[in-house]
Amino acid sequence: MSTTTTPHRPTTANGRARDARHASKVARVARQLRERTSTAPLSRQKRVVSHQVPKVHDRKHLDEKIDLNDLDEVIEIDPERRLCIAEPGVPFCRLVEQTLPLGFVPIVVPELKTITIGGAVAGCSIESMSYVHGGFHDTCVEYEIITAKGEVLTCTPDNEHSLVFQMMHGSFGTVGILSRLVFRLVPAKPFVHLRHETHRSIDSYLESIRSHFERRDVDFMDGIIHSNSHLVLCVGDFVDSAPYTNRYDWLKVYYRSTAERTEDYFRTPHYFYRYDQGVTNVHPKSFLGRLVLGKFLGSSEILRLAEKLRWLLLSDDRPDVTVDTFLPFSRLKEFLEWYAADYNHYPLWCVPYRRVHDYEWMADSFWKGMSDDLLIDIAIYGGKQPPGRNVYRELEKKLQELNGIKTLISYNYYPEDEFWRIFHRENFAKVKALTDPDNIFRDLYQKTCKAAMGRE
Ligand SMILES: Cc1cc2nc3c(=O)[nH]c(=O)nc-3n(C[C@H](O)[C@H](O)[C@H](O)COP(=O)(O)OP(=O)(O)OC[C@H]3O[C@@H](n4cnc5c(N)ncnc54)[C@H](O)[C@@H]3O)c2cc1C
Repeated sequence: MSTTTTPHRPTTANGRARDARHASKVARVARQLRERTSTAPLSRQKRVVSHQVPKVHDRKHLDEKIDLNDLDEVIEIDPERRLCIAEPGVPFCRLVEQTLPLGFVPIVVPELKTITIGGAVAGCSIESMSYVHGGFHDTCVEYEIITAKGEVLTCTPDNEHSLVFQMMHGSFGTVGILSRLVFRLVPAKPFVHLRHETHRSIDSYLESIRSHFERRDVDFMDGIIHSNSHLVLCVGDFVDSAPYTNRYDWLKVYYRSTAERTEDYFRTPHYFYRYDQGVTNVHPKSFLGRLVLGKFLGSSEILRLAEKLRWLLLSDDRPDVTVDTFLPFSRLKEFLEWYAADYNHYPLWCVPYRRVHDYEWMADSFWKGMSDDLLIDIAIYGGKQPPGRNVYRELEKKLQELNGIKTLISYNYYPEDEFWRIFHRENFAKVKALTDPDNIFRDLYQKTCKAAMGRE
């Protein structure tokens, strides 16, 4: 142990018992890393499926694995301090199950049930509370990180490991192993009431987003863009009761309901998982398919099947477009007009995202070039690529033009020098020198643009 900050400790006897169990799991993983002499790449093994876009030739499948299967316990939920201490492998659906009966939920619950809190930090996380809070990682106050040399660091935004803390987000596991998280909770009610605002122009859509953003007058805000003349903004609040409730985890498809309904009511968990069968790329697609299989096939099962049968189901030649793009609010109209003229796959998912922090893993020039206090995530899921075109590469170029960025969870074609003009090479190097000097977790470019694409 080489840190001076005292980590958050549980306040209850059960919490302390679970924390003691946690310490022995961490000791096991740390010893494994300390005793390992090989510098060959090492990947994580965890119980639930990965929610990154599966790729046929991803080298992670060939890597030696470090077993993190048992790092999936909630250590303590503290309603008084509105804090939760938990291990990285906890899926959000279990977290909501345990916190909601106490009148709280995690802030920013990503929409696929078994995304884990560790993956939400190391990868990305966004949902309809992001317009106030940013990503799930922005609600975290402390990380325990195991380095490649088996050291255990307590990292907070303001202690001696603050840069490691900041660089953990969006590092895709290249900085170290996240083994324990402390994050804030928000008061919640058993139901959610949604209103669907229909807009017929981009201008009126942006005006409404801006006005809710400034007034913070709703608990939730996201939207479905059916076309550039049919844009729906879904705004909602926690409520104590509901005249009726709907759920979209079998026959009914949520994004379609936004084109037909003006309001809706949900039990809170059903609101969080309204997209679990796919945001705009729903599986099974047909009514009959959902009738027969819909009850058994949520995002986890679909992703697990795709991972297991990737040789059969997937092709790396011209993969479907599944990607989140982030744009400054002031450049969104330009992007949507270019997109309609150039690619035209709808519907799109739209998620406003407050600029709560200028992330240290992105190049300084990205933040210097932007005065916006609001970003917008435009998610393109399940678009076909026209012959002879690489839409991912076109998006990479267009986004740089508009001072935007795409998440790295999918297919990445950046040349290395271009990549490090977007991501903060110096900050990564500073942190890797401490946490992974032999680079056994690969660097961000190698991992997301080479190994993931089978081009190592
Ligand atoms: C179809 C689709 C739709 C999506 N939609 C959304 C969305 O709407 N909102 C959203 O927020 N996200 C979305 N995602 C992205 C997803 O949330 C992120 O990819 C997230 O990182 C996945 O988390 P996971 O728990 O499945 O982790 P994994 O996929 O297993 O891991 C994600 C990354 O984090 C690293 N990692 C995981 N655990 C640890 C750990 N303990 N220590 C260090 N590194 C670790 C892994 O190495 C990997 O690089 C979507 C993804 C897909 C495929």
